[in-house]
Amino acid sequence: MSSVFHRIPKRNLPVAVKGEGMYIIDKDGKRYIDGYAGGACVSCLGHSEESVIEAVREQIGKFAFFHSAMFTSEPLEELASILTTDAPEGLTRVFFTNSGSEAVESAVMMARQYFVEIGQPQRKKVIGRRSSYHGANLTALSVGHQLSRRAPFEDILANVFHISPCYEYRGRQESETVEQYGLRVANELEQAILGLGPNTVMAFIAETVTGTTNGATPPVPGYFKRVKEICDKYGVLLILDEVFCGLGRTGTLHACEQDGVAPDFLTFAKGIAAGYQPIGATMVNEKIYQAIVSGSGTFKGGYTYSGHATACAAAIAVQKVLRGPGFLDHVKTTGNLLSARLNERFGQHPHVGDIRGRGMLMTVELVEDRSTKAPFAASQDLSSKIYQNAQARGLITHALTGTIDGYVGDHVVICPPLIVTSENIDTIVELLGEAIDAAVLEAR
Ligand code: PLP
Repeated sequence: MSSVFHRIPKRNLPVAVKGEGMYIIDKDGKRYIDGYAGGACVSCLGHSEESVIEAVREQIGKFAFFHSAMFTSEPLEELASILTTDAPEGLTRVFFTNSGSEAVESAVMMARQYFVEIGQPQRKKVIGRRSSYHGANLTALSVGHQLSRRAPFEDILANVFHISPCYEYRGRQESETVEQYGLRVANELEQAILGLGPNTVMAFIAETVTGTTNGATPPVPGYFKRVKEICDKYGVLLILDEVFCGLGRTGTLHACEQDGVAPDFLTFAKGIAAGYQPIGATMVNEKIYQAIVSGSGTFKGGYTYSGHATACAAAIAVQKVLRGPGFLDHVKTTGNLLSARLNERFGQHPHVGDIRGRGMLMTVELVEDRSTKAPFAASQDLSSKIYQNAQARGLITHALTGTIDGYVGDHVVICPPLIVTSENIDTIVELLGEAIDAAVLEAR
């Protein structure tokens, strides 16, 4: 009997003993191709990137740990410099955390502290989006909207107002163009700000491309431009959460580059150190940084391990690979190939309603009936069946049940390490096809 408090104790977990590039090997010698980058986009460089392993070895040999409120370190300074050099416009400072949830929490705390510092303490409300995920601490659960994870905590979560997500497949009406749809859902932000009282709202938070709750869902063109216009009009800070979709995953360094917007805060985690060390970050603009520095002089958040030098050393090595010659071009090319293969395999599939995504972050949405978009009944637990069938065939993928305004549906997220080859893509799509077909048969 395991004494570990596993998050999903009912799941029969294989014991991972080794990683080799795109593969994970368990104790019994079974090989799994990693279609989910080590769990939610983390291992973007696969499991054997020597330059990162070496950087960790070298740094850990120098010192174990210094508190970043007492010392800075060369890796900490260098990593911040790398991240800010090619950041979206205006993002000049980086605060380090140990996870994506902490990065989100830090952004919310900084937004609040900023308004307190500049003498607008009445600005305390955050607006988020339904069907979003921003992490599992109480702040991140409050601003996010993954209903099943929020349920036991609803009564102790912060009061956050949630507007519609930008989810074209489910949200666009037939009478609307894509552009009209994007403007309509973005304009919900303005209505929410006006309803709550413009000078009481401090921030709006959104994933640039969603990753978990409703699968990989990119915004429609123009959506974030309108969101940014609205935020600027009412002095509301924009937090873009790129914990899942940032740092190369979508084919550009930052997903928001493709939407032509620069936020006030940008959060990262998974892609920073590619899972070789735990680390997250909140990037912030000079206006917010200076208000805190020239105000109370201290950010009141922060964590003991913020800016851990070994994690920073791993992250520097990862960031150098991501920015190396041809790397992002490889992501774009293989991302296009993944999209093409998914469309070939599932484009006419009777139980696939939508294939969407951006770069190396794709989703297949399952439906019982393509013409009505009706999902499988939640009691069928199709996602678990797909997950188990894939795992049995040696494919790690992420099948999940998402909730949006009462609708529950099944999605598979495909986001392999960014080093994926065209042969790997063929294998992933083939095994996924078998897993979905078998699951659908079981569900009937
Ligand atoms: N934000 C987004 C968009 C995420 O997808 C996640 C995790 O999946 C988080 C935040 C939380 O990150 P972590 O699990 O590292 O705390």
